[in-house]
Amino acid sequence: MSEIHELVIVGSGPAGYTAAIYAARAQLSPILYEGSVTAGGALMNTTEVENFPGFPEGVMGPDLMDSLRAQAAKFGAKLITDDIVEMSLAGEIKTLTDGSGNTLKARAVILATGSAYKEIGLENEKRLSGHGVSWCATCDGFFFRDQVIAVVGGGDSAVEEANFLTRFASKVVLIHRRDSLRASKIMAERAASNPKIELLWNTEVIDVLGESKVSGLKLKNTVTGEESVRDFTGLFVAIGHVPRSELVVGQLDLNSDGYVEVEGRTTNTSITGVFACGDLVDHSYRQAITAAGSGCAAALDAERFLAGH
Ligand code: NAP
Repeated sequence: MSEIHELVIVGSGPAGYTAAIYAARAQLSPILYEGSVTAGGALMNTTEVENFPGFPEGVMGPDLMDSLRAQAAKFGAKLITDDIVEMSLAGEIKTLTDGSGNTLKARAVILATGSAYKEIGLENEKRLSGHGVSWCATCDGFFFRDQVIAVVGGGDSAVEEANFLTRFASKVVLIHRRDSLRASKIMAERAASNPKIELLWNTEVIDVLGESKVSGLKLKNTVTGEESVRDFTGLFVAIGHVPRSELVVGQLDLNSDGYVEVEGRTTNTSITGVFACGDLVDHSYRQAITAAGSGCAAALDAERFLAGH
């Protein structure tokens, strides 16, 4: 009979690694699946994180994740750089299958799979992805040196991406569908005072133009309905995220936007022994520090559950 593990953690952002640190220190010998290409989560694609407590000078997103990872490993968490591709969560023993075909059994599972970039939903956005359309300024900004590029979105992510892209681009046009930004005041002020950023209000991107690479965007004014075409060599999409809950659809209770439902202030999901944390459950705060905090809560909830069984 195959071994039954105490705890498997799926996902490796601040939530997953923090859960692993706590669970490892509690002697639960957690196994953490980091993901085959997404190890470290969304912070691996960011630059400087200025608001994670304890770093008055700021810390680079990937450096922060490396530190959390090392801390989890130091206490004995087993880190596996692979995906979980299937889960069967009902019943006392949970079964998980990884990308290499291994099957694991566990008494408790913590889900910390985070969220993925939201797409505008245009056919040509998908077709030209990697050919001028990107979701990651830190990954792709370098390719747009001295070019005129667009960023779509009005939240902190869009403003952060736009600011970062001014290091490379000759001009960044921030396209937002309303007439005021959703971004925090400090970020909005940064965008307004950056001479390389032009804010284009009340505008929607309705098509991405170009044969083999992006050459321009078809835009629509959301107030007048007027359509226009403008030349750009790149489009960065920063319009929010969708939870990565696809593996548990039909098993766990999800809300209408696909986020995993948890009980009150706990991380308990609708199945006993399954806990969820981080961006997978959180559609309002979505910060590295709140994700880390909920990863800690998930490990404590799992520990109490396992102690009671
Ligand atoms: P967000 O706050 O949800 O903002 C998404 C933006 O995209 C909104 O302005 C929204 O427009 C727009 N949008 C959504 N769907 C769209 C569509 N189909 N077409 C065009 N525009 C669309 O997402 P976010 O910016 O990724 O931020 C998420 C969370 O992470 C926030 O809590 C944010 O504070 C945090 N964050 C913090 C930092 C930081 O502190 N440095 C950096 C990045 C993110 P509307 O405004 O009209 O809804």
